[in-house]
Amino acid sequence: MSGDHSSTAISERVRRVEALLEERGMVTRADIDGRIDEFLRGATPANGARIIARAWVDPAFKERLLNDANAAIQELGFTMSGGIQEQRLKVVANSEAEHNVVVCTLCSCYPIALLGPSPGWYKSEAYRSRVVREPRALLREFGLELPADTRISVWDASAESRYMVVPQRPPAAQRMSEAKLATLVTRKGLIGTAAL
Ligand code: FE
Repeated sequence: MSGDHSSTAISERVRRVEALLEERGMVTRADIDGRIDEFLRGATPANGARIIARAWVDPAFKERLLNDANAAIQELGFTMSGGIQEQRLKVVANSEAEHNVVVCTLCSCYPIALLGPSPGWYKSEAYRSRVVREPRALLREFGLELPADTRISVWDASAESRYMVVPQRPPAAQRMSEAKLATLVTRKGLIGTAAL
């Protein structure tokens, strides 16, 4: 893994760039804070939920989403460039055969634009190490008991790459509208620590 992954190194670089821009009168602290506030105001798991509901009702969209998530989410008006740099988004879909779960083993990288600020447990040392070492046992503690023959894939986010999970559509939800389906999608479902 490259040293670039370290969010400490990146945030230090960002702070230096901010300081230079302020020093040269190119931006003010208020500009930067305003930009961040605006970004966070729009950042909620309801965004991820809308994307998943569309993927459930529109198989062609789902395929585009799995192939090139950055482009596909723009169809719904979302972007991964709301922060400082565009982050690559990879969306992975759960099935009977495979369950996906997302982590950032080194720090806490997370698709904030689509999921809102990350939960405390996502950033915890225990989650970050155990999900890699013993994902099945950890997911069981989250209340998710997976069939023994379901493979578990763990996706490790980085400063440049973010992941989001397409949960399996609940069997009872076959006739629901897209808007109603979106209300079923939880943050844990999008991270892969719960089924729906
Ligand atoms: Fe990270």
